[in-house]
Amino acid sequence: MATEKRKKKVTSETKETIFNCTFCEQPKSLTEMVVLTTFFPPIVACQDCEKNLF
Ligand SMILES: [Zn+2]
Repeated sequence: MATEKRKKKVTSETKETIFNCTFCEQPKSLTEMVVLTTFFPPIVACQDCEKNLF
């Protein structure tokens, strides 16, 4: 049985734009994110996941 809990936090403290990576679901700043336009619709992923994909 899956007991995974998913909470969505609203981080209003940070001034940076935060994205959640589509793959690892880690919140990252915009500067760490890569938009994979090879997908449609484009997928937002962090640089780490992008490395793993290609
Ligand atoms: Zn990621």
